[in-house]
Amino acid sequence: MKQADKQLLTNLALHQDALKQVAEDRFAPAFARTWKQIPFDFQVAIKNYLKKKPGKVFLCYKMDYGDLPLEPLGRAFWFEDFTAFTFLAPFVQHAATIEGVMGVIGHELAHCARRGVGSWTVDTEKEERETRSLVESWGFIEPYPDPRVWAPEIEAWRKRNMKLRHLSETLQVKR
Ligand SMILES: [Zn+2]
Repeated sequence: MKQADKQLLTNLALHQDALKQVAEDRFAPAFARTWKQIPFDFQVAIKNYLKKKPGKVFLCYKMDYGDLPLEPLGRAFWFEDFTAFTFLAPFVQHAATIEGVMGVIGHELAHCARRGVGSWTVDTEKEERETRSLVESWGFIEPYPDPRVWAPEIEAWRKRNMKLRHLSETLQVKR
């Protein structure tokens, strides 16, 4: 663990780097509240999974790993020896309510819980559908921001924060 990392769980480190303020003011408190809201059995499944494949969390300037038509707010990566969770930094910083951020964190942790209990599937559509219903059963609200409203705000944030370009999803996850 680097000095700049913050431990969210025993095997889950938040990489803070230049986005330390967003990490401390927004992400870490949202994560703590999210974790408390996850049922115990699923917390155990997540912790056991991360024990085998420790997790890193990155706040990203841009979610540029895949070529989806819409930029995702969060994403999870399942590697052989580690796990990575990425979140769109301008959303974490500016989402109107902390519940919106919690919904995204809860969603990615739900994928991880499903890996842990063995119900995760390569069928992306099915995985998303079942993850959404699991997250709802935990009481989270999933934000579906209107891209027409969000796109200009996110682009404006990126213009103001050009110096954080190196914190793109691809560059951080591959590091
Ligand atoms: Zn998902």
